[in-house]
Amino acid sequence: MKVPLLDLKPQYAQIKDKVIPEILDIIENQAFILGPRVDKLESEISQYIGTKHALGCSSGTDALLLALMALDIGPGDEVITTPYTFFATAGSIARVGAVARFVDIEPDTFLMRVDQIEKAITPKTKAIMPVHLFGQCVDMKPLMDIAKKHNLRVIEDACQAIGSKYDGVQAGAFGDVGCFSFFPSKNLGCFGDGGLCSTNNSALQERLKGLRVHGGQVQYQHLEVGLNARIDSLQAAVISVKLPHLASWTEGRRRNASLYNKLFAGNSKIITPVEKPGRFHIYNQYVLRVENRDALKAHLAEKEIGCSVYYPLSLHQQNCFASLGYHKGDFPESERASETTIALPIYPELSEEQIRFVGETINAFTAG
Ligand SMILES: *Cc1c(COP(=O)(O)O)cnc(C)c1O
Repeated sequence: MKVPLLDLKPQYAQIKDKVIPEILDIIENQAFILGPRVDKLESEISQYIGTKHALGCSSGTDALLLALMALDIGPGDEVITTPYTFFATAGSIARVGAVARFVDIEPDTFLMRVDQIEKAITPKTKAIMPVHLFGQCVDMKPLMDIAKKHNLRVIEDACQAIGSKYDGVQAGAFGDVGCFSFFPSKNLGCFGDGGLCSTNNSALQERLKGLRVHGGQVQYQHLEVGLNARIDSLQAAVISVKLPHLASWTEGRRRNASLYNKLFAGNSKIITPVEKPGRFHIYNQYVLRVENRDALKAHLAEKEIGCSVYYPLSLHQQNCFASLGYHKGDFPESERASETTIALPIYPELSEEQIRFVGETINAFTAG
């Protein structure tokens, strides 16, 4: 039995009848840039997340860049974040000329340790960028308290966390700006690149809107230097068709996760993902911890079971961030996670049989 890490085709089969006419209509009308489909998507997503506004943009990375720019974060500023995340989190901070200040992660959730944030604050700190990694929210209550106390902005990297909740509040509805990605491997993916910023601040929404189109909302009038960071009408249409399915797809991922948890319950060699009380994990990734990770990875490849390592090298150890002055050993939990974690297939359309096969293969391997 082959089990891919991710197969988008069964999801496409569910939306094909609805999405093809949308795409054809856009092509027939030759109206590709912004327009009513982007407006519609923005109102649907802001309603879904529970924020006043949403702004579609070209990718999750550009959502982070737009947020940083709209909050005037740049040279001389520091942003506190996690070294255990996708590159774009810290990449966007560096891109605007600011400095990423890392704090280590919790060993059970892989999320940033909120109790380490205050120690990392300096007079230059301007913002905190929590990452709701793998689909579970960071401990947002104490994080927002710290931000308030020190007058710091909060940019949520919610690129893996659409629909994830903390005390009933959605990821992306806590901070000044929430940043989302519609990259195909995310829980709500488009047919290419796409992203979105969410915010409750109307002035910030206006600023983001200008920055999305070269820094001005009136054509050829530039208030500042922005980006070309629009989302395509085509991608907006795809997301609008998919959005009504998101809740059931999320349930599918959660059902798969709980089946894995059951299968691994008696296996002392494996630590399954932890869902903290009060949080709603959407399992963009289902990530195990296992000591002989590389051997397991090779074994799964041999058995034609897809898996991946997120992320094999912490960001403080990346060459491009050498100038930040960090060294191996600075964030031991992040480094240990890089060496001992493995992500398994979790997409909603997996069959119970496939999950059992993955679980039994892993249990047989760790017992051997
Ligand atoms: C995917 C992702 C991004 C970047 O999103 P893109 O749409 O690929 O640019 C940023 N941060 C995290 C945590 C991500 O998983």
